[in-house]
Formats: sequence, structure tokens, C-alpha cells
Amino acid sequence: MTKPVVAIVGRPNVGKSTIFNRIVGERVSIVEDIPGITRDRIYSAADWLTHEFNIIDTGGIELSDEPFLEEIKQQAEIAMDEADVIIFLVNGREGITAADEHVAKILYRTKKPVVLAVNKIDNPDMRGLLYDFYSLGMGEPFPISGSHGLGLGDLLDEVAKSFKDIEDIEYGEEVIKFSLIGRPNVGKSSLINAFLGQERVIVSEIAGTTRDAIDTEYSFDGQEYVMIDTAGMRKKGKVYESTEKYSVLRALKAIERSDVVLVVLNAEEGIQEQDKKIAGYAHEAGKGVIIVVNKWDAIEKDEKTMNVMTRKIREHFLFLDYAPIVFVSAKTKQRVHSLLPVVNQVSENHALRVQSSILNEIIEDSIARHPAPTDKGKKLRIYYTTQVAIKPPTFVVFVNEPDMMHFSYERFLENRIREAFDFEGTPIRIITRART
Ligand code: GDP
Ligand code: GDP
Repeated sequence: MTKPVVAIVGRPNVGKSTIFNRIVGERVSIVEDIPGITRDRIYSAADWLTHEFNIIDTGGIELSDEPFLEEIKQQAEIAMDEADVIIFLVNGREGITAADEHVAKILYRTKKPVVLAVNKIDNPDMRGLLYDFYSLGMGEPFPISGSHGLGLGDLLDEVAKSFKDIEDIEYGEEVIKFSLIGRPNVGKSSLINAFLGQERVIVSEIAGTTRDAIDTEYSFDGQEYVMIDTAGMRKKGKVYESTEKYSVLRALKAIERSDVVLVVLNAEEGIQEQDKKIAGYAHEAGKGVIIVVNKWDAIEKDEKTMNVMTRKIREHFLFLDYAPIVFVSAKTKQRVHSLLPVVNQVSENHALRVQSSILNEIIEDSIARHPAPTDKGKKLRIYYTTQVAIKPPTFVVFVNEPDMMHFSYERFLENRIREAFDFEGTPIRIITRART
């Protein structure tokens, strides 16, 4: 199931990021705990009652070189492109401004549902301020207060009414779904073209999903694949498509629909913060990950270059120590043919189910070699381990005292599991539970 996407649009200072944070709430994000990854979230999972959705704060997509009105126009266009439902936010205390009218005019062009929310209505006495906003022609305005958390329930009820119409293509379990993600200009489109230019690849493009994405379905050597396009990569043009925030947004949507994610780096430019952030999301989403170093033709090399680069990648992407690294050139097609076998292997590992008896033997053997932690005379006892899920492989370890399972011991167990089974390319999750 693909989750619906909600976008918040409006001129600066109406309270978009305040509302965004209210709706998102206190979500724990692994990505943001990774050092060097800053907190400037503009896209997040959220829920309301039984509804799960993703939400975008378009105000966070800054287009700094653009004049003010052009910037809010582009943000509104992003909302119209990316979202299933749009929240148009205005400031009840200031009345309708020219900039609000500007946003409204752009939103008239969309067929997508728009819900008008009037923010900063901090108490019921202020509701009289609402009436002016009917003249925006966006239907009934919903009074809310971001700072006091008022009215959000009614607003989200209205937003959720439009969720039921959203459909998306579902592919079979046996189809490998993968995507290429990365900063603008690392060579994603070129790689896709190099990929699809290979002999014997049978291609059909499925356009016209509700998301305007272009999925490319093909089969090769008896295996079916769907390549999920991230940024309308093969039909670039809009100004905002070259901004990094937008590319992250598109990457997140593609990651969500993929089994395996190819994180593309540019050998010429080296590793940048944004690369880590994008890769961090793939890891956090529990997807299979392959690191692809593109433009390998463009740098000067000797016999050590590949090792040096590998070491650098390992240092910068500590959380991705399981991901294979492939050095390619979309331009000369060097090693492009070797990517698909890696995708196959990673996909298989991502869906690997191991036998409980063998798993428990390995855990027991690990405990014997490296005893579990003790604390004030108490000892962590591990009773039983079982795999509860695939994609990614997830293990539950039943113990006497879950609090005593330290991160380092969990890591040790993970490494032992990795030594025993082939989980290359996939994150694995370990959950510690008290045996009841
Ligand atoms: P954005 O630029 O649209 O993202 O707006 P922000 O979320 O940054 O909010 C702009 C300012 O309005 C901040 O100073 C907020 O504290 C304030 N603000 C946001 N929501 C409310 C509200 O419901 N009531 C009041 N009084 N102030 C608010
Ligand atoms: P995207 O924004 O990630 O989709 O990147 P593009 O595929 O549009 O590539 C950006 C630029 O890098 C273009 O000028 C490409 O010709 C160039 N490029 C892509 N792959 C390679 C490569 O392997 N080697 C070299 N030298 N240039 C490349």
C-alpha cells in the first residue's frame, strides 16, 4: 500500500513548519541521530486515527535564487506535483494578503483537493477572523492554532476524506523493485539509460500512476524487475528539480516503494553530506542498499584508488557497513553490466529467512565466546532468538532483562549473524523482548 501524501503550502510565516511539526509529533528518526545529518526535516511519516500518510512542508524547499513570489509559486507547484491532498495555510491575524492570493491563483489550476486552514486562531473569540477567507474561493476555512494545537483534528478529518481515492500499482512479490537515488548530477539518468540500453532487456514503461512516476518494468534472464523513477529523471525541466531538498523528497518516495536502493555517488565530487543523508533514509527504511560510485572514468586512478575510495566510503557511511560498493561509469558503460547481479543478490538477502535451529546454535555459540553483559551481579540471559520478518530480516531475542541488552552486545550478535548467513546488502533489525 502506498501512503497518501499531504503537502502544506502558504507564504512564509503563516506557521507551516509549526503545523508540520505538530502533525508529525515526536517521531524518532534514526537518520537524524547519525552525526552530521542536520535536523531540517521537510518530509515525514505521520498518522491521524487509523490513517497513515506522509507529509511535506513545502516551505522548507528553499529556492534561494528566486524572487519571493516565484519561490512560493514553485512551492505550490511542488505540492501540486507531489501531493494527493494540499493544505493551504494562511494567517488569520493578518487577513488575506497579496501573496495569499498569488498562492490561491496557482492552486486553482490543480484538480487535487485543497483544504484551507486559517492558522493563529488561538482562542474561540478570534473565530470572527475566519469569514474573510471564504473569498479565496477554496471552500470552508478551518480555524487552527499551531502554537496551541487547536483545530488540527477537524482539519485532518477533512484531509483524510480525500485519502480513499488513492490507488497505486501493486507488483507481485517475485518482482524486484529497485531505484537509483542520489544528489542531482551524480548520473542517475545516465545510469538508467546505460542499464536499459543493454541487450536483451525488455522494457515497458508504465506511466499514469497517480504519482506521475514512470515505472519501468522489464525482465532479464527470467527475473522480473521494476525500476522506480525518482525525479521524473528522464523528463527534467522544472526549476525546482535541481534543488537538493526536492531531490531528497523524490528519493524518499522512491525508497518507500523499492526493495533495493542504489545510492549513487559521484566519484569526481567525492562524498558529501547530502549523500549521507539520502543513504541514511534508505537504511532507516530497512531497504537493501548498494553503493554505486559513478563517473569512475572521470578521475585519475592508479591501483590504489579503488581501495582508498572504499575506505573513505566505509568511514563516512558507518551505518551502511553491509552495503556492497560497485564502481561504474555510465559514460563508458564500465561495469554497468555487473550491477544487476548485485541487485539480485541483495534482493535475495533482503528476503532471506533463516532456520531457527541454526540461528539459535549461532547465538549460543556467540554467548559462549563472548558472555552477555552483567550489571550489579545480574546477568543478561538470552533464551531464544527467532526471525519474525523479512524485508528487512528482523529478529526477536527473548531475554530476562531487555534493559541489559547494550547496543554493543546487540551489534556483536548482529555481526555473528552476518558471519553465519549471507545478509550482504541488507540492514537487519534486532528487537530485544522480555520472555513472559
Ligand atoms: P512558516 O514560515 O510558514 O513555516 O511559519 P513558522 O511555522 O515558522 O511560524 C512563523 C511564526 O508564527 C513563528 O514565530 C511561530 O511561532 C508563529 N506561529 C505559528 N503558529 C502559530 C499560532 O497558531 N498562533 C500564533 N500566535 N503564532 C503562531
Ligand atoms: P542525474 O541528475 O543524477 O540524473 O545526472 P545525469 O545523468 O543527468 O548526469 C549529470 C551529468 O553527468 C551529465 O552531464 C552526464 O553526461 C554526466 N555523467 C553521467 N554519468 C557519467 C559518467 O559515468 N562519467 C562522466 N564522465 N560523466 C557522466
